[in-house]
Amino acid sequence: MIPWPPGGAAANAEAGTLVQAYTHRGSLGGGVVAPAARTPLSDGLSAPASVSRDPHPVYAIRIGKHRDGSKLGVLAYAQEHAREWVPPLVTVETAERLLRNYAHDGRTRQLLDNLDIWIAPSVNPDGGHYSFYDFNSQRKNMTNHCPTTGAADFLARNSWGVDNNRNYTEYSLFDGYSGASASCTSGTYAGPGELSEPENRNLDWLASRPNIRFSMNLHSSGNYFMWSPGAYALPGRVSAPRPTLAQESAFWGASARILAAIKRHRNMAVTPARTGPISDVLYSAAGNSGDMLWYKYGIYAWNFEVGTSFQPEWDEAHAETLEFANGLVELMRVARDFAKDRTRPRSTLAVAPSATPGMVDVTFSTSEPSAVFYTLDRAAPTYASTLYGSAGIREGGETLTVPAGTRIHWFSVDSAGNVENDYRPDGDGRNYRKGTAVLRAR
Ligand SMILES: [Zn+2]
Repeated sequence: MIPWPPGGAAANAEAGTLVQAYTHRGSLGGGVVAPAARTPLSDGLSAPASVSRDPHPVYAIRIGKHRDGSKLGVLAYAQEHAREWVPPLVTVETAERLLRNYAHDGRTRQLLDNLDIWIAPSVNPDGGHYSFYDFNSQRKNMTNHCPTTGAADFLARNSWGVDNNRNYTEYSLFDGYSGASASCTSGTYAGPGELSEPENRNLDWLASRPNIRFSMNLHSSGNYFMWSPGAYALPGRVSAPRPTLAQESAFWGASARILAAIKRHRNMAVTPARTGPISDVLYSAAGNSGDMLWYKYGIYAWNFEVGTSFQPEWDEAHAETLEFANGLVELMRVARDFAKDRTRPRSTLAVAPSATPGMVDVTFSTSEPSAVFYTLDRAAPTYASTLYGSAGIREGGETLTVPAGTRIHWFSVDSAGNVENDYRPDGDGRNYRKGTAVLRAR
């Protein structure tokens, strides 16, 4: 029997850099290890030998007729979180549609002739493979930053790793913002410092292309659709800066178009309550990628939370893939239209009889896909007002049933941020649209 000195110093002295011996989570133990048969070392991974144990390369697909940076850039990226299996499918489906449809669809040709599209299906493939083969619920990457006196051992490997969507540079944990952890075993561990992780430096490299103006960060789940600010500091819930009114107009107007495209697939609606700034509709997520792209690079950066679970049955995963690919293609169209659209949307209010006595049914329609915000209490409408449930010109919006005689104030905003009547939705303007919910005599 070989005496084993505390701390594994003898083993470390002899084994070189490939092997590190340490006591279990800092415990010196009290006993003597029993002799056992010699067994080969194993990495304990279930993936077949055909799956590389090296760090996996991170791929990005660049699509466009002119891939020289001269065209407006759009970036879509997925699977920062390993267990979210549908978002990579959405990106690959989108890439395939663009490439296959180029030959015969004029609208697709318009996009590829005029945009420089980057699609990164899996930002965190090491975690992804671990999720596929060993631990479904893996969220983070596979880099172990835990001290050897803590949960750094093999048995703790389901809990170490860095949350790639908390390791970025803007409004991070290291800047004092909320929603990320300094604990190496937390699900939202921010890492030892901003951009400490290669996954994050990869995305920073992609986003730093100066022609990129739009991006989509694809996650699951919850059917959310969000943008900056994505973090606030506690106490006092001090938010990262809000976009300007003009920028907010573009976020809302474009979002209405993208959500209408998603809904077109199987009538699944992302509700207005799940649309808006991350820190309003979900939570604070210090150091997330969308905030880095928006605040550091000025990219209109959205975040999808696709579907209803991390790993749905295939029928559902397939449907989610098709509907959110609709949304991602629509983002490309938004990008294409953005630079040249100066036309303000126009909207109309329609009033119809209701089945309920004393009530009427109200709908809005718009001259182009636009978001409509309205109030029913005579207040001036703003971006904090109620967002009409569906926008888009191909399908009807929701029907509001209101008391006959209700005064309705509203405005519409398109995807380039053009606001109807040049209204400023800051609560001070008065040239919003006004109407009364009454049936007109015929
Ligand atoms: Zn996620």
